[in-house]
Amino acid sequence: MPTIITLPGDGIGPEILAPALELLRTISEDFTFDEHAFGGAAIDIHGTALTDETLAACRKADAVLLAAVGGPKWDTTDPEAPRPEQGLLGLRKGLGLYANLRPVRPLPALYDASPLKRERIEGTDLLVVRELTGGIYFGAKTRTARSASDLCEYSVEEVDRIAHVAFDAARLRRKKVASVDKANVLETSRQWREVVHIVHRARYNDIELTDVLVDNAAMQLIARPADFDVIVTENLFGDILSDEAAMITGSIGMLPSASLGEHGDPGLFEPVHGSAPDIAGSGAANPLAMFLSAAMMLRHGLGRDADAAAVEAAVDRALDGGLRTRDLGGEATTAQATRAVIDELGRE
Ligand code: NAD
Repeated sequence: MPTIITLPGDGIGPEILAPALELLRTISEDFTFDEHAFGGAAIDIHGTALTDETLAACRKADAVLLAAVGGPKWDTTDPEAPRPEQGLLGLRKGLGLYANLRPVRPLPALYDASPLKRERIEGTDLLVVRELTGGIYFGAKTRTARSASDLCEYSVEEVDRIAHVAFDAARLRRKKVASVDKANVLETSRQWREVVHIVHRARYNDIELTDVLVDNAAMQLIARPADFDVIVTENLFGDILSDEAAMITGSIGMLPSASLGEHGDPGLFEPVHGSAPDIAGSGAANPLAMFLSAAMMLRHGLGRDADAAAVEAAVDRALDGGLRTRDLGGEATTAQATRAVIDELGRE
């Protein structure tokens, strides 16, 4: 019986996690859910976003399902004050989650919800593979009264292992990898490029590899998103490009993600979006990214491919049937969206 740690977090987090558990219970009564306060909610109770006890429970579990953290209540520029996002970084580091997978596949039913023209996005099916535990987010930070700095550092091993994840993923898809860097300016990028090419030459000659500078990648994602298959990039670039790619689908409320570590260790599954404090409590949150994250958990975390595909198909059919939450230009509430998907699941 798989144990899943659930982390509702803050803002709309609890409002979208509860429906996801309802969905999972519809699929199977086998799951054991173990909920822990996390992010701002944990700061309020324990003074820290991620307690040692929560991290230990996550390490022992089969998978971790997280909604979202953060909000104005905990916003601060005081470097000493605890912040909800420290929980995310602590979890990624603590579970060794170095690979973040973000699929972007706009559904035909939602083509017109995208700010991009239908003919630009038609056929888009890409996967952003973002390095998650290295680079500038984890480098040494300094602050004096007159200056501040963040160190960006990557080891060869860190680049090597994320390159493998990207090439392996491409092999199961359309066999194309775009490696995104800023090699014309940054030393870390020049090393990144070298290592990615070494990995490519050694084991992945069947994959087409292209180097793309990050500024160009930002343009091409809007100009011709359907040409991309797998995009692999470092932590900071991946953070920005995956949010940009999110808009192709029409709403950030549609995008799931998986963060994976070494084989056999628990993965972390969460929507790409944040805690949306502007709509928290209004019942308007779109739960679909959370549902699709649960599907990624079923597939990548629990090895239940058929269940994952059933959830994805139910989401597709609900949207085909006209389901639109407010972020997609409709009126459906979180509860109505949940009902629509669970009903579709029952129609299998
Ligand atoms: P956000 O993703 O929370 O919201 C951006 C916009 O998208 C808002 O207008 C919001 O209403 C909308 N939105 C997001 N998710 C939605 C959903 N499921 N349904 C409908 N609309 C949705 O980003 P933000 O406003 O920049 O950040 C808010 C808080 O979330 C901040 O504290 C930030 O640090 C945090 N954050 C957390 C995560 C995470 O938990 N992984 C990620 C990003 C931001």
